[in-house]
Amino acid sequence: MAGPSLLKEVLQRFFSKPVTIQYPFESIEVEKDIRGKHYADLSKCIGCSLCAMECPADAILMEKLPEDKKPKQNPRGLYPVIDYGLCVFCYRCVTVCPVKAFITTDDYHLSSPTKLNSRDLTLKTLSKG
Ligand code: SF4
Ligand code: SF4
Repeated sequence: MAGPSLLKEVLQRFFSKPVTIQYPFESIEVEKDIRGKHYADLSKCIGCSLCAMECPADAILMEKLPEDKKPKQNPRGLYPVIDYGLCVFCYRCVTVCPVKAFITTDDYHLSSPTKLNSRDLTLKTLSKG
């Protein structure tokens, strides 16, 4: 008969801490080497497009930098924008980049009412160069 054991289970759950969290208001600790959001550092990127060519999910689009914002090492003025909604976080782009231009993070927060991409994070690196 399930009655008494079910009642015991209900009482145990009633007094125990919930196993769920109130995401996105609460965060959980993640492994240090988790593959989170990544983006190109424009003080290093040479605009070669290799990351976009190698991406298995077609998640990288090469965009044009404004003429007056072209870093010296990137005469074509192209830079990668990652669509985090398409990305499978394999980090192949990070591995193939010939100048190690990708900055990696453990930021796994991808819940958003709008599409998320790396454009703003990457453009912020222009001020470094
Ligand atoms: S991590 Fe993988 S899927 Fe995501 S952009 Fe890089 S190559 Fe593409
Ligand atoms: S991030 Fe690396 S692989 Fe991608 S375009 Fe820039 S230099 Fe090339």
